[in-house]
Amino acid sequence: MSEVRTRFAPSPTGFMHIGNLRTGLYAYLFARKNGGNFILRIEDTDQERKVEGAVDMIYRTLETAGITYDEGPDKDGGYGPYVQTERMGIYKEYAEKLVELGGAYYCFCTKERLESLADENGVHTYDKHCRNLSKEEVAKRLAAGEPYVIRQKVPENTTSSYTDMVFGEISVDTSDIEDGVLLKSDGLPTYNFANVVDDHLMKISHVIRGTEYLSSTPKYNLMYDAFGWERPKYMHLPPIMKDATRKLSKRYGDANFEDFISKGYLPEAIVNYIALLGWCPKDNREKMTMEEMIEAFDTDGISHSSSIFDENKMRWLNGEYLKAMTPEEFYKVAEPWIEKGIQGRDYDKKEIASLMQTRVDVLGEIPEKIAFLNEFGEYDLNMYIHQKMKVDLDVAKKAVKVAIDALKDFNDWTDEAIKEQIKACAEAAGMKGGQVMFSMRVALSGAPVTPGGAIELAKVLGKEESLRRMRFSLDLLEK
Ligand code: GLU
Repeated sequence: MSEVRTRFAPSPTGFMHIGNLRTGLYAYLFARKNGGNFILRIEDTDQERKVEGAVDMIYRTLETAGITYDEGPDKDGGYGPYVQTERMGIYKEYAEKLVELGGAYYCFCTKERLESLADENGVHTYDKHCRNLSKEEVAKRLAAGEPYVIRQKVPENTTSSYTDMVFGEISVDTSDIEDGVLLKSDGLPTYNFANVVDDHLMKISHVIRGTEYLSSTPKYNLMYDAFGWERPKYMHLPPIMKDATRKLSKRYGDANFEDFISKGYLPEAIVNYIALLGWCPKDNREKMTMEEMIEAFDTDGISHSSSIFDENKMRWLNGEYLKAMTPEEFYKVAEPWIEKGIQGRDYDKKEIASLMQTRVDVLGEIPEKIAFLNEFGEYDLNMYIHQKMKVDLDVAKKAVKVAIDALKDFNDWTDEAIKEQIKACAEAAGMKGGQVMFSMRVALSGAPVTPGGAIELAKVLGKEESLRRMRFSLDLLEK
């Protein structure tokens, strides 16, 4: 195989949803797997759909996702410029060349004339009116400054076929292909033209993109043929759906990569999850590092059918990533979220991190889970009633007293020691350890559910705050 060069060609028309990012990821994995180059090209010719800030978002997203490109707008590899609006001269030159080669023609039809071709749904197919204008007439009209477009001269009565690496043989009858516009009257190329010129000039060996281009590719191939250029290989990827009938859409901000980051997902977990949306490694592994994905990536594993984006699955995978971290690694990513939760209060953040590591799937759950550290006051005493443990308000009162007495002069503030002490004092008072610990958990938190039980809470709260809370709770119980 000659040198592998793949590209990711996003349009800066909105957020980057994970479907777009997956296309980039596969192109990246394929290039890396084959020792090739991965190129970023910004397709910004659709000025009307351009969104402010979207180009920077593309850079940021790729960087955060760890998808590094070898060539791109800010990394010259000798095939630039890598931004389409900086390549205007190139498209015009090649459109004119294609006219000379017989693969395209000038069209002077007015908007009114084109509109008159519309069917009842307002859709018009160009009737090839200008396809056979004489060279002289074209020259004359160009010299007179008449506005024009350049259209593709699609060969008649034949079929155009290619073999897609995922979907196999694709054939289109050329009578179904319109003589579409390649260069617009404002001199801007259409996507249909720009993708061919750019992929050729940038020496792209494998074009990897969504299935929405599967059936227009024969039309692009006709241009490669007319230019006398070698066609690239193609890999079209099935769509990612948000449910059974709707595709993810960037227009509606669906499944936006940066939103997931701000919700507390790890970039590596998102990337790992989206790799699995449409591809499965031979051994069916799910949790994989980027290196492992590169190693395992193969076209055979790419699915033909669409996949449904399942945030719960991604959550689960994210939780697996969190659990697999060392306590230090976890602390590093969790610290800002812990800070947000404790709002500057003086708690040991490392303690809190160790409490949270196995209890959240997404870092964004942390502030809510530790809200009890900030909020403590009057609460519903029914929380103490637990039939199975045989705890009622009297038992709870006794239990909280036992816990206070057990800990007020106790200084060995470690999990094991606190636990032993509570157990021993419970027994001495003729109670079960479980009854005291259950009541103590409520007394420490005033909350129906907490991450961790009494001992863990006491650990995080520290001795002073634990005793303060239990005394407050005892007062409530005694009222
Ligand atoms: N700019 C196109 C898009 O965002 C890229 C298609 C392609 O990869 O050729 O859909």
